[in-house]
Amino acid sequence: MEEDKSLNFIEQIVENDLQEGKNDRRIQTRFPPEPNGYLHIGHVKAICMDFGIAERYNGVCNLRFDDTNPVKEDTEYVDSIQQDIRWLGFHWGNVFYASDYFDQLYDLAIRFIKEGKAYVDEQTAEQIAEQKGTPTEPGTPSPYRDRPVEENLRLFEAMQRGEIEDGKMVLRAKIDMANPNMHFRDPIIYRIITTHPHHRTGRKWNVYPMYDFAHGQSDYFEGVTHSICTLEFVVHRPLYDWFIDQFVGQVPSNAADWKTGSDYRPRQYEFNRLNITYTVMSKRKMLQLVKEGLVAGWDDPRMPTVCGLRRRGYTAEAIREFIRKIGYTKVEGMIDLGLLEHTIRESLKNTAPRICAIFDPVRLVITNYEGDGETIVAENIDGNPELGTRQIPFARELYIERGDFLEQADKNFYRLSPGGREVRLKNAYIIQATGCEHDADGNLTTVYATYDPLSKSGTEGGNRKTKATINWVECQSCVDVEARLYDRLFAVENPSAEEGDFRDLLNPDSLKVVTCKAEQSLRSEMHRPEVVDGIAQVNHYQLLKQGFFVIDPDTDDRHIVLNRTASLKDNWQK
Ligand code: ATP
Ligand code: MG
Repeated sequence: MEEDKSLNFIEQIVENDLQEGKNDRRIQTRFPPEPNGYLHIGHVKAICMDFGIAERYNGVCNLRFDDTNPVKEDTEYVDSIQQDIRWLGFHWGNVFYASDYFDQLYDLAIRFIKEGKAYVDEQTAEQIAEQKGTPTEPGTPSPYRDRPVEENLRLFEAMQRGEIEDGKMVLRAKIDMANPNMHFRDPIIYRIITTHPHHRTGRKWNVYPMYDFAHGQSDYFEGVTHSICTLEFVVHRPLYDWFIDQFVGQVPSNAADWKTGSDYRPRQYEFNRLNITYTVMSKRKMLQLVKEGLVAGWDDPRMPTVCGLRRRGYTAEAIREFIRKIGYTKVEGMIDLGLLEHTIRESLKNTAPRICAIFDPVRLVITNYEGDGETIVAENIDGNPELGTRQIPFARELYIERGDFLEQADKNFYRLSPGGREVRLKNAYIIQATGCEHDADGNLTTVYATYDPLSKSGTEGGNRKTKATINWVECQSCVDVEARLYDRLFAVENPSAEEGDFRDLLNPDSLKVVTCKAEQSLRSEMHRPEVVDGIAQVNHYQLLKQGFFVIDPDTDDRHIVLNRTASLKDNWQK
């Protein structure tokens, strides 16, 4: 088959399989999160693959919760995972749980014991680890390896009845202690967990299957054709296949839902994980940050979680576009955070209305301006009238940025200075500074200027060029806004590669909160945003010269909160 460059390598495999007629040309994938945390952008890479393949080839992608460890799992996570997948724009066929198969898996374990393929080991985890050997040296058989079948059955059933303490016994598959693939050296397939009830099965089980024993079997029971995962599972694949081989000739239990060929089997394929600079991509570490209050929660806008990115102002489209850009390969690597930021800038720059907010305000009085003021009509995005216009009040007293005025300036300063150049007020008039005033401590309090009434933007006189244009808001109508300015969560590029505690590597300046004065159009945000599927629908803005911002759900009818999604400066280089 000719290589199609627009396809990623897994899509090419799928097309080959379709041509060869494997699995009756059925395509079925699954996304298998463990409900022990919120989804992060690494998961989105897997989601785009799993759901993307099903969409492209008229197949189905099921959502399967890999809920085999009740110690860490919770329905809170089950719910958030579903919400995030919907928000990303994907649709699953069915929702399954590994716990749906606990009976079948238990029966399979019993079958293994009866066939002499499994035994109960009473050694400690440390002893078992010590006997594993190394890739070049064979392991040492457990003294319990050759237990009689009846004894194994009796002990495994006692484990399940809750008669054995956690950690005192495990069930191991009896495969090959000398296999060069360490995963074949009698892997643990069941362990005892009595300390925590399971979020779905309650106290029914005291033994739980391990990942390797549950995953491939679940794929098989459901009729998965392509079981796509990340590269760390390459070394597990032979074991995955070995377990599947144990079913040869058996009809999967859920097979009624689909036509099964006698050659049916799921196959595992692997792609590279997503890692991004200046962050961590591990639920365990994220949970630690949340639990210890080092971030405000799973949806803290500095977190690489889907809910964090959403609150930061990332759109589902931009996140999917980022995943499309990075692509899928078979080598691990690190993606520059700059690419993610570049993607959201590209997406918002032509859609987010541009408005003015003054971050370090100083009063500007236009001494020759008469009357009560006027309303200026400005385009939401300059030169893009189809994106609408808004009304901006203008009057004699405005706020401008302190940094746009210098009492004593040289000729290289293009903005306001007494007796200096003409400067345009964005969307309004040309002014010239005439003087200023300070308080008793010498702080600048007021700038005085005169304006040219014939220079209004949009009129004939509005074409006159100035070297600088400055931002402003009108004093009476403007609104105080809390702006949360976020920066990278970690101070180092790859916190996971550093020695010591990753929490010591957090960027101490990752959040700055300031109050700014924004133009009145933001007042319309002073209500609780509409909530769809549990998610607040919020608007995006570009604050001129400050960056892209999004309304935070903390906004209420008295208080507007903005999160900075990204600054305007783009450091991304291809
Ligand atoms: P973590 O290490 O953060 O806990 P995990 O791999 O244990 O992640 P799971 O819930 O088991 O998380 O993952 C569900 C699916 O998402 C798996 O198929 C896994 O391969 C994939 N996945 C997880 N992290 C990444 C990542 N960083 N990049 C791509 N895929 C990922
Ligand atoms: Mg996992």
